[in-house]
Amino acid sequence: MVGEVWRIGAVKITRIVEIEATGGMSRIIPDATRDKIQDIGWLFPHFASADGRLRGAIHSLIIDTGERRIIVDTCIGNDKERAVPAWNKLQTAYLANLAAAGYPAESIDTVLCTHLHIDHVGWNTKWDGAKWIPTFTNAEYLFGEVEYNHWMTHDREGQSQVMADSVTPIVEAGLQKLIAQNHVICPEVRLIPTPGHTPGHHSVMIESEGQSALITGDFLHHPCQFAHPEWPSAPDWDVPQGYATRVDMYRRLAETLTLVIGTHFHTPTAGYLKTDGKAWRLDVG
Ligand SMILES: [Zn+2]
Repeated sequence: MVGEVWRIGAVKITRIVEIEATGGMSRIIPDATRDKIQDIGWLFPHFASADGRLRGAIHSLIIDTGERRIIVDTCIGNDKERAVPAWNKLQTAYLANLAAAGYPAESIDTVLCTHLHIDHVGWNTKWDGAKWIPTFTNAEYLFGEVEYNHWMTHDREGQSQVMADSVTPIVEAGLQKLIAQNHVICPEVRLIPTPGHTPGHHSVMIESEGQSALITGDFLHHPCQFAHPEWPSAPDWDVPQGYATRVDMYRRLAETLTLVIGTHFHTPTAGYLKTDGKAWRLDVG
């Protein structure tokens, strides 16, 4: 399915949805019980069901500057053996949806992973019947250097298998480029370090003609963490650092008219951050 399209100055951002669901995120944010979610009125109806279950999504975001076609995060992917049943051996029309949106895989020149977790690298590769091969054959794949070096030497919850089937084949094909957390991709697109969820995590800032947007990555997973920045996500590598990053980013975002595009936010996926007492809320208009 082709999702939302946003325009930031001369830049077009298109959402390609792999999965959108209600209820699956509760294990990601253990503090977000149904009772506590029902106390956060602005989450309804978009980001929570009436009975307090979290709504979420897994999607890619295409940044089209006119000169560059950058895909941010590549979801779970088809055919991959995964421990989470809903993610195991997926068969979705993701590549066809990408092409239908005007972005066939071969037209992408840059693949950018905010971090190297299972749901951000999957379509880096596809199964050719014998082995995992790069999906985006004409692209340079940008991996954070800190992030890559960390996961090549640490395992956690199946991460070594994710590296083996979705990252290492890219390195073996010579398509990777290891980058700093504040890397500048082109005049309109630069990275902002947002560590905590993983050691080398970064978010993506898009700026054009006086307008701006931020693709969050996973420094938060769900808008309820605007109301409760102290709620960690279960996979967070460094919980105090994750909290510090959230508060710092929320303060900065609430001071500017930056469209916040959530990497796991359910439709409508984007809005503007506003202060809300001692916390924040997402204004989706
Ligand atoms: Zn994620």
